[in-house]
Amino acid sequence: MTIALDLYATPRASAPAPAKKPLIGLGRSALAETLADIGLDGREAKMRAGQLWNWMYVNGLTDFERMSNIGKATRAALNDKFRLDRPEIVSEQISSDGTRKWLFRFRDPANPLLPPVEVETVYIPESDRGTLCVSSQVGCTLTCSFCHTGTQKLVRNLTAGEILGQVLMARERLGDFPGGQRPDDGGLVPAPRGSNGSEGDSRAITNVVMMGMGEPLYNYDNVKQALLIASDEAGLSLSKRRITLSTSGVVPFIEPTGREIGVMLAISLHAVRDDLRDVLVPINKKWPLKDLLEACRTYPGLSNARRITFEYVMLRGINDSDADARELVRLLANIPAKINLIPFNPWPGSNYECSSSARIEQFADIVNKAGYASPVRTPRGRDILAACGQLKSESERLSKRERDALMA
Ligand code: SAH
Ligand code: SF4
Repeated sequence: MTIALDLYATPRASAPAPAKKPLIGLGRSALAETLADIGLDGREAKMRAGQLWNWMYVNGLTDFERMSNIGKATRAALNDKFRLDRPEIVSEQISSDGTRKWLFRFRDPANPLLPPVEVETVYIPESDRGTLCVSSQVGCTLTCSFCHTGTQKLVRNLTAGEILGQVLMARERLGDFPGGQRPDDGGLVPAPRGSNGSEGDSRAITNVVMMGMGEPLYNYDNVKQALLIASDEAGLSLSKRRITLSTSGVVPFIEPTGREIGVMLAISLHAVRDDLRDVLVPINKKWPLKDLLEACRTYPGLSNARRITFEYVMLRGINDSDADARELVRLLANIPAKINLIPFNPWPGSNYECSSSARIEQFADIVNKAGYASPVRTPRGRDILAACGQLKSESERLSKRERDALMA
């Protein structure tokens, strides 16, 4: 059963005054520097930045008034100049398997007169974890032929604050902040326990994957900033081992991802020959398999305990033969790897079919016998178009003339 809720059909907060600066997404020192705008000197700004950090990311507050360790006058000044708002929830859908998909709406912080943009974010609950699939761009510049997002032209990059806004809004909605309420609406919200049976991490969101709309490495600076904030131990405190960034293969940014962000890496491989990969994942024409695999081999921090995940979509009669499986094993020799087989998820107008279960099993078996873990990703949320590669929004890029007219 699919329930579609129009939770906040009317915006939950009226559009913020344009002059207010967003604080979500600023790094600690930038946050302290920004507080000079309300006249705080260096020492006090640093102290207040620490307090704000805790209120924003540990307690999930969006209202300066509730920040009880900050004096009344400072709270009023903060409220006057800054904002902590999150995306509006345009809609929330719950799949028959408990997966939840939101359509989030953002206004452009730098250009509040422009129409807002929308992205999808998905929450996938399992018994021992809860994974949030986060978007990095509105649309995508790439056009992988089996991907729904690839049919939506890039509208714009999301800011670091908007990337974090998806995590914050999902945590709020799932009752993950102190004093929050778990939803009681048919969607699943697990209470994972630590691996040794202890209370462990009992938050609804234990893992984040940058696998939503867009190519994260084509929005590197904002994604980096957002993930460093998400993994800050005094804030949202998500372990870097529980954050995975997936890329279609933007080779020059793979090394910096390991060195500067330090999260787990997933590569959308999908083909083992350049001629086929050129068609399925056209960025391959720029950075072919040889370059991509070399970047993987030298990924900073790579070890048997920190393997790269290779994603491989199973397309009937296209990339799913025994020979493909054997070539895959050969290509990945000497790379600590896990191979994630993804049954193709259809979308309106898609031109591929999913391989049969028997074919997928046989393919997995070959990979497995060669010593690689090869889990088959269970499709989640297909009935609400929430599964891998099904995300898309209606947002469209304006022409220069349309933008200019609006700004005028
Ligand atoms: N742009 C990044 C992040 C998206 S991750 C990337 O491409 O890696 C989403 C994953 O789902 C990618 O591995 C993508 O290739 C895969 N995917 C896209 N369309 C799909 C579909 N229709 N069925 C199954 N997987 C798909
Ligand atoms: Fe973009 Fe990734 Fe889809 Fe390719 S698979 S079009 S890179 S979102």
